[in-house]
Amino acid sequence: MAVLNILKYPDETLKQCSQPVEDFNDELATFLSDLEQTMRAGPGGVGIAAPQVNVFQRIAIVDVSAKPKIKHNGCMILINPEIKTWKGMKVGREGCMSVPDYTGNVIRAEKITIQAANALGESINYECEGYEARAVQHELDHLDGLLFLDRLVSRRSDLFKRKVYK
Ligand SMILES: [Zn+2]
Repeated sequence: MAVLNILKYPDETLKQCSQPVEDFNDELATFLSDLEQTMRAGPGGVGIAAPQVNVFQRIAIVDVSAKPKIKHNGCMILINPEIKTWKGMKVGREGCMSVPDYTGNVIRAEKITIQAANALGESINYECEGYEARAVQHELDHLDGLLFLDRLVSRRSDLFKRKVYK
């Protein structure tokens, strides 16, 4: 297992669109464990997407189970994920391991349903809401080359500089 290097804004490679995973093999399993380890090594690591470590495949991991008092699905391995339904809209603050110096306010759906493959290629459906739904939408954006910076309502009033990433 290995902690992988995280690409940081304004690295242009973060804008690349990722390709679907086709082979569910040992190489993928090894990458998934490295990706998960990288997420857990990061400060506040509740999610990570493959393009953040320079791998342009449609893979994300979200695990918000360490946050108190919220609904969650545990550790979700999301391969070739698709959001099927959206419900409600809410503004919330987001950070990103690829944008360590800022947080920002972004509008996201409050409830979503998603379909994704797991490490074995089996199709799984999830229902997510609140903080977990926000984390999933954030990570899935990375697969299309989008950062939360691209979704700010206003750069002037919705972007916040942070001194230390906690
Ligand atoms: Zn991010």
